[in-house]
Amino acid sequence: MRQPVDIVIAGSGPSALLLGVHCAERGLRTLIAAPDPETVWVNQYACWRDELPVDGAISWGELLVPEFSSALVWLEEDAPRVLERGYGRLEGTRLHAMLWDRFVRAGGQTCHGRVLAVEHLATGIRAETDAAELIRGAVFVDATGHQSRFIRRQPGDVTGYQLAYGILADVEGEPASSDRMTLMDYRGETPRDDIPNPSFLYAFQRESGLWFMEETVLVGPNATSFGTLKSRLENRLERQGVKVRRVLEQEHCLIPMNPPLPRVRQRSLGFGGAASMVHPASGYMVAHSASLAPEVAECLLVGLGSYKGEPREAVREAWNVIWPRTARQSHALYRLGSTILSEFDAPTIRAFFQAFFEQPGDRWRGYLSRTLGVSGVMASMWGTFGELRPGVRKAMFAALARNPMESWQSIRGGLVE
Ligand SMILES: Cc1cc2nc3c(=O)[nH]c(=O)nc-3n(C[C@H](O)[C@H](O)[C@H](O)COP(=O)(O)OP(=O)(O)OC[C@H]3O[C@@H](n4cnc5c(N)ncnc54)[C@H](O)[C@@H]3O)c2cc1C
Repeated sequence: MRQPVDIVIAGSGPSALLLGVHCAERGLRTLIAAPDPETVWVNQYACWRDELPVDGAISWGELLVPEFSSALVWLEEDAPRVLERGYGRLEGTRLHAMLWDRFVRAGGQTCHGRVLAVEHLATGIRAETDAAELIRGAVFVDATGHQSRFIRRQPGDVTGYQLAYGILADVEGEPASSDRMTLMDYRGETPRDDIPNPSFLYAFQRESGLWFMEETVLVGPNATSFGTLKSRLENRLERQGVKVRRVLEQEHCLIPMNPPLPRVRQRSLGFGGAASMVHPASGYMVAHSASLAPEVAECLLVGLGSYKGEPREAVREAWNVIWPRTARQSHALYRLGSTILSEFDAPTIRAFFQAFFEQPGDRWRGYLSRTLGVSGVMASMWGTFGELRPGVRKAMFAALARNPMESWQSIRGGLVE
């Protein structure tokens, strides 16, 4: 039978590997249990460059391919808004290989199996896997993504999802700017189809003639209508005179945007999607996982050293690194913003983003990167509100009135949680 380890991580997505590397490199005996731990992730990840952490062992900048120094947001027909902020696509294969190499070199272990059940004992955990292997360890980390089964959450439901259908394709014509990335192109009417929400085009050129283009609903109901988004994308490209010669890859994206937060007093630790770490306003998370992983690993190292034989406290402290009180308060406000956005039609959402990006750069950047703190998030919300036309304010109040419970919980959580 395998010797007990310190940290058992279920999952092999970016969050599992990021945390696994930092735990193993600190000398914690770390094991990753997942059905296919060596397999590269299917999803393509992108992020703002300034959100990537400083990690001497990873040249994050080199992994951004392509990288753009600014991004465009189209809210009016004639001219885009230019966001002067670096953005890029992370090369998944290289990032995975780097992390995997570091994990193995630091003595990380793997179990090729899905975790089926976890039992918490006084001095640690026992995890059962479908590889017929019983794993023993001090701390169990659930990094199995948004559908996690091992993390207990606060009451409530996911009320909004990001839905997107994307293709990497060889095209004739230019669907968007070729030297900047198009973060959101909200131009055009919302078609009458089975998705009530407006969608935007997210696009960038990977290399000459090769484009990644995605039709995205920022936040809406769980309408897994990828076919509808595919039609919207095709119609948009046709209107723009862009011909798709060959589709190389397709992406189907469904992200729960505002899942209830995990309970911070529980024996399992969550990380990544399993710990509701996705940003409720944007759907981004990988850079946040990368930033938090060293801190969480350090906390576990110190905690396990201090509370030998009783890992409960170490887990509690690690939860407080992931979800400190102020982050939970901000999250409640973000949830409110996300609920309001899910109710807006195209003209309202365009007017909303006009006002949002009218704020000073530090503020909209901070809002999107969770660096503002509760008062900053509130100031950003008030600042945006102050810029809105009366008609949009009215739509906002109507959205709040349609979701009284959700609105009240968010405001209460933001102020007093
Ligand atoms: C299509 C798509 C595109 C996205 N794009 C971006 C982006 O550009 N930028 C960004 O920051 N975020 C993006 N996100 C959001 C978020 O970063 C991703 O969802 C990310 O994959 C979450 O990482 P994770 O490691 O927490 O979970 P996942 O990547 O979902 O990994 C979960 C892992 O757990 C394993 N697993 C599941 N059950 C078990 C079990 N019982 N036992 C053991 N292992 C198990 C799975 O096999 C998998 O390896 C995107 C999400 C999606 C769906």
